[in-house]
Amino acid sequence: MADQTSDVLISGGGIAGLTAAAAFGTAGFDVICVDPAAPVTDQEDARADMRTTAMLQPARDVLNAAGLWARLEPHASPLQIMRIVDAGGSDPEARLTKEFNASDISDLPFGWNLPNWLLRREMVARLDELANVDFRSGTGTTTLFTREREARVGLTDGSRVRTRLVVAADGRNSPMRQAAGIEVSTKRYGQKALAFAVTHPIPHENVSTEIHRTGGPFTLVPLPDRDGLPCSAIVWMDDGPLSQARLSLEVEEFEAEMSVRSCHLFGPLTLASHRSIWPIISQKADRLSGERLALIAEAAHVVPPIGAQGLNMSLADTAKLLELAQERPEGLGDRQMLDAYHKARYNDVSLRVQGIDLLNRASQVSTPALRDARALGLNALYSLGPVRRTLMQMGLGVR
Ligand SMILES: Cc1cc2nc3c(=O)[nH]c(=O)nc-3n(C[C@H](O)[C@H](O)[C@H](O)COP(=O)(O)OP(=O)(O)OC[C@H]3O[C@@H](n4cnc5c(N)ncnc54)[C@H](O)[C@@H]3O)c2cc1C
Repeated sequence: MADQTSDVLISGGGIAGLTAAAAFGTAGFDVICVDPAAPVTDQEDARADMRTTAMLQPARDVLNAAGLWARLEPHASPLQIMRIVDAGGSDPEARLTKEFNASDISDLPFGWNLPNWLLRREMVARLDELANVDFRSGTGTTTLFTREREARVGLTDGSRVRTRLVVAADGRNSPMRQAAGIEVSTKRYGQKALAFAVTHPIPHENVSTEIHRTGGPFTLVPLPDRDGLPCSAIVWMDDGPLSQARLSLEVEEFEAEMSVRSCHLFGPLTLASHRSIWPIISQKADRLSGERLALIAEAAHVVPPIGAQGLNMSLADTAKLLELAQERPEGLGDRQMLDAYHKARYNDVSLRVQGIDLLNRASQVSTPALRDARALGLNALYSLGPVRRTLMQMGLGVR
């Protein structure tokens, strides 16, 4: 079989890989994107990814340039206020509440929340419109062979692609990263997150609420109403065995437990989807590039789901790669471009991985004294005007 060629080969068609394919395709590059798993694009499918992603302001610019935002906007719920609640006292009730309002720093909301299954549906539809993008689900990458001038990537169907740039968007165990011999450092917290949707009687009023008690945050993110009732996406982080046990609790018992954990802030919560479970780790690749290879998204960095950073960092990776490719198209995938990519992204990635690690550890604490210290720290941090403003801007990726 003759080798196929492309400007860019993207290994991985998760949300990050699909966005990168749309971004490079819209910019006029020839793209092949492969993924062994078919994207699940229907929320009724038991395999559907019930997580949601809060796209922060800079992410919207990337989606816009990739021809995706117009498709996503009608389904997006704006995040106007972020509320942080400490419920670390002896009873599970809110004892300290701090609010950030996006209007303090910008005319726009912090971001827009979208269900992951819907993101996949709209992204695949966008790729269908682009004649220069070839998205192949059911095919994965197997081997990587690089020379100074090009890379050759072996696929699971036995074919081979010759390309100028390989983008590894193939997840936390990235086969392309491993093939290039790039090491990672990993931290494990013994935590797992449950992700699901709920309806509730008290409206969320576009406020995202993060409740801290022990084991990890319990976060409610606004979704559009469902069956005439206010609806939210929840990520509930806790010790692994506790999360695992809750995954199979009877619905009634589960609803009672999560209503207590939510401090009844939105009234009794009713489960409105299946539950999915996710191991929580923090991980960073030693380098973000190799010969003819760029690592993006979870292939490069994994963070606990706090402050909606994960995918937003990934879209910042894509934005930088694309910017460098457009500045000097003749240098696509060469050493100068990939060194510049590593240099431009590595510090920001390191800072965010470190910062979120700290926040997660603070959120996990279980002894009352440490929980009190966390509440005091939270209070001090959020009461200082300039610190508060900087934190908000960092959350948005604006610095
Ligand atoms: C509970 C939870 C909530 C989250 N909430 C948010 C949020 O609100 N905001 C935010 O920004 N981030 C959030 N994140 C993080 C975000 O979900 C991830 O950053 C993002 O989904 C990772 O995308 P990815 O495309 O890198 O990885 P993945 O989704 O893991 O995609 C990797 C893809 O690579 C494919 N693959 C594997 N092997 C191969 C191969 N050999 N060849 C080709 N393809 C291959 C896989 O099939 C998969 O489709 C959350 C994470 C969790 C766990």
